[in-house]
Amino acid sequence: MSVTGKTALITGSNSGIGLGIAQELARAGANVVLNSYTDNQEDHALAEEISRETNTTARYIQADLSKGDAARALVEKAGQVDILINNAGIQHVAPIDEFPAEKWDMIIAIMLSSVFHTTAAALPMMRKAGWGRVVNIASAHGLTASPYKSAYVSAKHGVVGMTKVVALETAREPITANAICPGYVRTPLVEAQIPDTAKKYNMTEEEVIEKVLLERQPSKEFATTEQLGGVAAFLCSDAAAQITGTTISVDGGWTAL
Ligand code: NAD
Repeated sequence: MSVTGKTALITGSNSGIGLGIAQELARAGANVVLNSYTDNQEDHALAEEISRETNTTARYIQADLSKGDAARALVEKAGQVDILINNAGIQHVAPIDEFPAEKWDMIIAIMLSSVFHTTAAALPMMRKAGWGRVVNIASAHGLTASPYKSAYVSAKHGVVGMTKVVALETAREPITANAICPGYVRTPLVEAQIPDTAKKYNMTEEEVIEKVLLERQPSKEFATTEQLGGVAAFLCSDAAAQITGTTISVDGGWTAL
């Protein structure tokens, strides 16, 4: 079975990795639902552009995933979700004793609790349709840690754990759940970390990219949103029907170190 005619909901998909995955799944024939917390003309225009380019149906639905009921309502508004890509994310960097509690709560809400809510709402739809794919965008930080990223690392380790639980609960059904663990991908989320890190370490932005960001990525190259789209499409393919409960690293060798 291919993804043609399936509906894929990709959370946090008006930029970066989510947008790359939405574009790739639409190219493979899926109807996609884009999402973010904003509701601008540009957001809807992204969906229109995907529809036009791929001859599929693409829609944009606003939902603030820091709120559990909004996360569940997003799935309901999508109408049918065959493929759920949990991707929305934010970052905040600070030592744990200075980490603002409200940032902790926000990161856990958007990156961990929303995955629980969307998955809980989408699984009954997948069961009814007799097919489903859950793909969680975790991180190399779902498998390893870095200082100053307590909330992010905790949320991503939590997502990897939840992925395994969902895989076990659906193991006897034609539904799979897996996590993709990217290393650094040059998206707005990563761009935003460069100036602060440069200031902190008194480095140029080029030095931050080479010596800080890509320090742990042995390939010394960023992964791309297109590559992540390709891996997500693979996990939705028939070839991946027996791949469940696992993590796939797209990190240039980071977790091999
Ligand atoms: P990005 O900033 O381009 O995308 C994040 C998306 O999440 C955006 O669409 C944003 O609007 C959305 N979002 C943020 N808060 C939201 C909210 N409250 N409700 C709904 N949507 C919300 O960043 P990205 O790098 O593409 O990140 C996508 C995912 O990939 C994140 O989960 C991130 O942790 C993960 N990731 C990124 C990298 C990287 O190097 N860029 C590495 C590993 C994992």
